[in-house]
Amino acid sequence: MKITDVKTCKYNLELVEPFSIALGTLEKAENVLVKIVTDNGLVGIGEAAPTPFVTYETPGSIITLIEKHFKKLLIGEDPRNTELLITKMDQVIKGNSCAKSAIDIALFDLVGQIYETPLFQVLGGSKNSFTSDCTISIGEPEEVEKKARTIINQGYSILKIKVGLDEEKELSGIKRLRDSLDPGIRIRLDANQGWNPKQALSIIEKVEKFDIELIEQPVPKEDFSGLAFIRARTNIPIMADESLFSPQDALRLVQMEAADLFNIKLMKSGGLLKAKKIAAIGEAAGINCIVGCMMESRVALTAAAHLVASTPNITGADLDAQNALRTDPVVGGVDFKGGPIPLPLSPGLGIKKINI
Ligand SMILES: [Mg+2]
Repeated sequence: MKITDVKTCKYNLELVEPFSIALGTLEKAENVLVKIVTDNGLVGIGEAAPTPFVTYETPGSIITLIEKHFKKLLIGEDPRNTELLITKMDQVIKGNSCAKSAIDIALFDLVGQIYETPLFQVLGGSKNSFTSDCTISIGEPEEVEKKARTIINQGYSILKIKVGLDEEKELSGIKRLRDSLDPGIRIRLDANQGWNPKQALSIIEKVEKFDIELIEQPVPKEDFSGLAFIRARTNIPIMADESLFSPQDALRLVQMEAADLFNIKLMKSGGLLKAKKIAAIGEAAGINCIVGCMMESRVALTAAAHLVASTPNITGADLDAQNALRTDPVVGGVDFKGGPIPLPLSPGLGIKKINI
């Protein structure tokens, strides 16, 4: 079996409302859809969802890289040789994890279709459903509470609150949630690199009484020592997100004792293959993982769901972009509303059609 063509297509996804985090505000998602076609008529689907201020890529850079460089590596090759093909992409260019992720997802979709097996079982088949949290972007305390109530009414019981811009306002929002919501609701905080280590410790001391499940990326991505400094001084688990792109980053976080948890995203790791390698490093070090997302359509989100369901030490998910997007061009795949979320049992990703 051989790959005969690789197609790319840029498409825009409209957000329900602008999404604000400590690093910036997203007004819309500009993503790239990839199709890999084989000589027996199968089509594997993948997606790149660049967030330029996190992944340093744009739709233009992704399309250029795939069309001018990756396409010629792939055509004529057997799509089942995933390790070989992904290694070849790494030999062409370092980084560019979103472009590589789109190819990786499409290859694994093909592998599932070839073996007529759902992707989560191709990847290991640990469970067939999972639970996701839902994220609330930075906002006024009353607005945060209102959004929390809407999300809980949709069936979610884990909230991820974005922080890292305005300490006083954010503390008052968290207090408001804890005072008004059922105590069984789990609350995670994500500072998106917004604090320095000492500031982070001072804020962490103030939120300890609010039963916070974890704190994500408190300090700038390069500051591994800062993560280790904070982690050594609090009982709240510290999760690395922007500090963790590659398996090499995961190894360094372990060596520096800088994280209690890993946040794996396909757009940072460069796809499923390397995401599994990161999870394996976590497993060896006794670190559990959560799989998160960028502003991905249900193409990349469905791939991420298969990853969650395939890996025992991936114990949580932050796969909530479907709630933030007004447009949903995907037919089939995983439906992320509420929870628990079941995996599709059709081959590969289980996506039937994309309406773009
Ligand atoms: Mg994060």
